[in-house]
Amino acid sequence: MREVRHFVNGQALEGRSGRFGDIYDPNTGEVQARAPLATAEELDLAVQAAQRAFTNWSIVNPQRRARVMFEFKRLVEARMDELAELLSSEHGKVLADSRGDVQRGLEVIEFACGIPHALKGEFTEGAGPGIDVYSMRQPLGVVAGITPFNFPAMIPMWMFGVAIACGNTFILKPSERDPSVPVRLAELMMEAGAPAGVLNVVHGDKVAVDAILQHPAVQAISFVGSSDIAHYVYAHGAAMGKRVQAMGGAKNHGVVLPDADLDQVVKDLAGAAFGSAGERCMALPVVVPVGQRTAEDLRERLVAEIETLKVGTSTDPAAQYGPVVNAAHKQRVENYIQLGVDEGAELVVDGRGFQLQGYEKGFFIGPSLFDHVTPQMRTYQEEIFGPVLQMVRADSFEAALELPSKHPYGNGVAIFTRNGRAARDFAARVNVGMVGINVPIPVPVAYHTFGGWKRSAFGDTNQHGMEGVRFWTKIKTVTARWPEGLVEDSAFVIPTMR
Ligand code: NAD
Repeated sequence: MREVRHFVNGQALEGRSGRFGDIYDPNTGEVQARAPLATAEELDLAVQAAQRAFTNWSIVNPQRRARVMFEFKRLVEARMDELAELLSSEHGKVLADSRGDVQRGLEVIEFACGIPHALKGEFTEGAGPGIDVYSMRQPLGVVAGITPFNFPAMIPMWMFGVAIACGNTFILKPSERDPSVPVRLAELMMEAGAPAGVLNVVHGDKVAVDAILQHPAVQAISFVGSSDIAHYVYAHGAAMGKRVQAMGGAKNHGVVLPDADLDQVVKDLAGAAFGSAGERCMALPVVVPVGQRTAEDLRERLVAEIETLKVGTSTDPAAQYGPVVNAAHKQRVENYIQLGVDEGAELVVDGRGFQLQGYEKGFFIGPSLFDHVTPQMRTYQEEIFGPVLQMVRADSFEAALELPSKHPYGNGVAIFTRNGRAARDFAARVNVGMVGINVPIPVPVAYHTFGGWKRSAFGDTNQHGMEGVRFWTKIKTVTARWPEGLVEDSAFVIPTMR
């Protein structure tokens, strides 16, 4: 059976722990490979390699670091199909979606290509007599990223793209469920000119994550995954004195006002709720129609749209979405569907029991639609992360605004309307980090920044854009005096600028 390797100091490294995680082919349900689960000692080897590499990488000038990013982008683009196939084969998302996963990561690499500009400090000439003040952004040292299964290309690139361009050296601990693409990306970084040890990949589970949290040389951790683990990483990393940003789960709402273009809304909702089998932190699993007429009309159109959806293997070009990642996740989603029924929501379309001919053991789930879901239900409060759309009816704009605002998660939200003033008011007042106006999946472009609120993110700074640069650097401020003659100010009082 294929065995994935760690990638440390520019070389593949066989796992020595004797523990492995299964990697499935979600189309067939069979185990296709296994990933080694690292020990604390193996993690330490990677940290040592990264420490050695930091000495030189941190003083390579920013323009040369940017050139490595330009070359990496070229190499990834040249291998787009190979990467997308590998990604789909372990994750289960359809090929076009895997290309999107790689492409969204590359957009952050494009941002990182401009790192010389982003790292320029500030300068004040003549802050006092003969005094100039300037600031510079310096890399932190060895830093780490811990990533989820659902975007095995994009999210690692969000993190290491900016961190490495800033002069740090990196340990990536990808999801053990689909770890092959992250290893390929690290190999391509070396090919692009990053010296050995600048980007290391260590596979693992809680043991590897705890080793990162406890390692004294790791200066900063970026985490993306589910909220309980995000909070754990945030709390333990901060207690160890590390800088931590930890993005968690989501339950994004799509609010539909009565004046919205429903033909468009139905298409947008179907893609955002069921695309990638709902395994996206920016999916739209909750729709909130405002008013009875909007709700009835939308429901009818959604049922018709769902009937046209094509679920298929990840390699089927006609399929709109593929299987979920593994059997445990399929079971979890189906348990939530049953819970929804038990809680009293109306299951309008039931996606359970879906079978694809020739792939009966694959992890497929058909699209499901619930109506009359209420805010008290557990299935509304919690993240399902599957192809399940829940309709929560609201009788006014204010009631619709309140739902995402009061929900424990606050990653993304969307409003569909033709009324600019209502949209503007909604965007200003909603208690959620990323807002779409007639945009169902409002993932910000790479030079802006990604991050939710409430239980969707712990820590202070977001991913990529200038927020990312701030996260991966520390600022130093220099006050320099080159006086013309003797400075007569008293040395015994706090200096002030008069
Ligand atoms: P997960 O929390 O199970 O795993 C994330 C990472 O944590 C993986 O690398 C995993 O190996 C590690 N991990 C797992 N169990 C651990 C434990 N007990 N202790 C320490 N580390 C552990 O998440 P997942 O299932 O891979 O990904 C889906 C989740 O990620 C969803 O909740 C989704 O909303 C979220 N997500 C959030 C964002 C965002 O930006 N907010 C983006 C993508 C995914």
